[in-house]
Amino acid sequence: MMRTLDEITEFLRTYDGPEMRIMEVCGSHTAAIARNGIPSLLSPGIRLISGPGCPVCVTVSSYIDRLTELAMEPDTVVVSFGDLLRVKGSGRSLAETKADGGKVIVVYSPAQMLDLAAADPGRCYVFAAVGFETTAPVYALLLEEAERRGIRNIRLLTSLKTMPAVMERVCLDAGVSIGGFLAPGHVCAVTGYELFRGTAERFGVPFVVSGFTGEQLLASICRLVQLRGRGTVENLYRTVVKPEGNREAQQLIRRWFRPCDAVWRGMGNIPGSGLCLRESARDRDAGSAGLVEDRAGNGCQCASVLTGRIPPTGCPLFGAACTPQDPRGACMVSQEGACFNYFISGRKGK
Ligand code: SF4
Repeated sequence: MMRTLDEITEFLRTYDGPEMRIMEVCGSHTAAIARNGIPSLLSPGIRLISGPGCPVCVTVSSYIDRLTELAMEPDTVVVSFGDLLRVKGSGRSLAETKADGGKVIVVYSPAQMLDLAAADPGRCYVFAAVGFETTAPVYALLLEEAERRGIRNIRLLTSLKTMPAVMERVCLDAGVSIGGFLAPGHVCAVTGYELFRGTAERFGVPFVVSGFTGEQLLASICRLVQLRGRGTVENLYRTVVKPEGNREAQQLIRRWFRPCDAVWRGMGNIPGSGLCLRESARDRDAGSAGLVEDRAGNGCQCASVLTGRIPPTGCPLFGAACTPQDPRGACMVSQEGACFNYFISGRKGK
């Protein structure tokens, strides 16, 4: 095991073994890799590819369509984080809907919605609940607090996803061969990291749970290269991630949500890869069932980017017809999106 940063960077710079393709699963890792200029420190034999861990990017157009419809209903207000606003549905985005008179409010935390809804009981406030295991406890807390305060006019439109089944799908995808995964540190902080062990062992591929600083990322990439061909899970983010995860957050999730199938942009329906509100909370559901796969025909290749088949620079629209100022697809909108991060950092094909 290498101990110093100098040893690690030297190893990664001079690596001359067989090509190693490493997927950074999490959108926050994609952003941190861009911010820290990690690709420029790697030998040509180590290639980083982005995965399906940006929540906005994997959300299907039909979900955005449903939000825009709700925003135009007379007594409904849609509440969202800002990064979802510019993502287009099959027609408009939430931002365009707002400009056309739709009722859309941007918040930094779902908790801000409590006072808004309490002060306006005649209208229904619907939160755009997208995200992974990391964000699900936040939505559960929102509902707990709404119950405690007796605020009945708060609902969720959910498009919540979970990691294990989609990682299995990525490994099964014959079009992509991946030598190792930077496992998502934030998700593992909630779930623990054993959830990746089955996939690691079945496919003989290592997962390393990584933090988000440049040093942590380099150490994790180095460890993945060393573990090449071994189906195992290691945790290099020990200050935050415990084997068992955060039990309190897990209980919150279980109290309000149940596992369900989910539709992913570019990957279609993946059984058991989502979280839906429990039957006991159906009065808090704004109509989340029945989302369908994208049929986008605008040339966007987010689907191939999200599954690692092409780097963002492999899309003919990248940097020309599609830029952060004028995005064609969700991967160029979100600050965790692969296309956005490749564009702002000048990252090329790795
Ligand atoms: Fe879609 Fe734009 Fe990325 Fe191409 S560059 S895949 S159009 S988001």
